[in-house]
Amino acid sequence: MSGHAIVIGGGIGGLADAVALRRIGWRATVLERAGEPREIGAGMSQAPNALRALEEFGLGGPARAAGVPTYSAGNLRLPDGRYLQRARPGDATPLLAFHRADLHRLLLDGVPAGWLRTGTEVTDLRQDEGGVTVAWDGGEVRADLVIGADGIGSVVRRLLWPGTPPPRFLGRTAWLGIAPVGGLPGSITLGSGGYFLIHPISRGRAYWAYVATADRPDARFEEEKVEAARRLASWHEPIPALIAATPDEAVIHIDICDLDQLPSYVRGRVALLGDAAHAMSPDRGQGAGQSIEDAVVLAAALAGEATIKGAIEGALRRYDAERRPRTQATARGARADGRRTTSPAAYRALTTMIRLMPAALWRKGIAADGNRTWRWHPPRLPFPAS
Ligand SMILES: Cc1cc2nc3c(=O)[nH]c(=O)nc-3n(C[C@H](O)[C@H](O)[C@H](O)COP(=O)(O)OP(=O)(O)OC[C@H]3O[C@@H](n4cnc5c(N)ncnc54)[C@H](O)[C@@H]3O)c2cc1C
Repeated sequence: MSGHAIVIGGGIGGLADAVALRRIGWRATVLERAGEPREIGAGMSQAPNALRALEEFGLGGPARAAGVPTYSAGNLRLPDGRYLQRARPGDATPLLAFHRADLHRLLLDGVPAGWLRTGTEVTDLRQDEGGVTVAWDGGEVRADLVIGADGIGSVVRRLLWPGTPPPRFLGRTAWLGIAPVGGLPGSITLGSGGYFLIHPISRGRAYWAYVATADRPDARFEEEKVEAARRLASWHEPIPALIAATPDEAVIHIDICDLDQLPSYVRGRVALLGDAAHAMSPDRGQGAGQSIEDAVVLAAALAGEATIKGAIEGALRRYDAERRPRTQATARGARADGRRTTSPAAYRALTTMIRLMPAALWRKGIAADGNRTWRWHPPRLPFPAS
């Protein structure tokens, strides 16, 4: 039986969820506080796990068209330019890199016209035997269930999980940008106390990110690009050139935070999804990918269920039981990776270990099935009866 869901938040997680619900024959109302549907920020990569979920939504073709193959960990370098590991010409890579706006757009294209309501900031919700009502300044809507996909500062989490600690600053800060520089293969350069990531993205551009240790959050600089350039002036090319080529206003500076682990992602007819449930440090490039996984698993749990209270709550409990262990393990891993790759104390041991690792073994670890996170396969979604 098909039902109606309210999705709060029109980011990558919320839109992926709307696409997944459509795929099983449900209807969704997506409430987004921004005035227009858009994804701000720079770039990102998607790994085989999330790319398989996009295939399940029928979006594999558009994802391959919008994404650019990238090596990142296939080309690991030191700030003086030496390679610790290097991809060979012709090596396959399972990662695709995107401009965030392109990934957002391809999901948005999968959401039926009229499902998205922008300029709508949700402030309250209440549930009863028959459904859930969601309210904003000037209106409300009712549905069989609610998905809180409203990001790391989630109002749904605040309302239904009171007392949950706020996002935790992880002692790292990041500068990000998009430069009009094409043809780069993707790489990570490991410095002591920070690393620099490059991904090629569509239309002859490169996404870069510099993640560095920081004593406190909210340290901001008058000119963020100048600060990033100053810190990286002695690093190998094309790093200084990429920063120089990035328009000043395209340099973003953010602090790295994650969430304490929740004991459940579900309260009755309400479920959290994406960063609202499990915001994680970006060091495994998995946050948005995990939200896409959430969407396909939630749809699989709901498919064919009746919209009565017991059936909906049962489906959401199955979603919670399946997603919480995996997303929380990924978040713990990302937090640990971030600490390891930016810790000055661990730097020498880390770079020596990578340099000494046989190239074949290194390549195996970054192949499509090379690690546990990437090996994940989505459940098959049934097509709705027509
Ligand atoms: C530096 C950095 C690099 C990253 N790199 C990667 C990567 O390479 N690969 C990857 O998979 N992930 C990456 N991530 C993680 C990724 O960005 C997030 O996990 C992902 O964007 C989360 O999507 P979301 O839809 O859950 O939340 P969000 O993107 O935060 O979307 C939430 C939406 O909800 C809306 N909203 C909020 N409150 C309300 C309200 N009250 N009412 C209505 N709407 C509301 C917001 O406006 C927003 O549109 C990275 C993160 C960072 C910080």
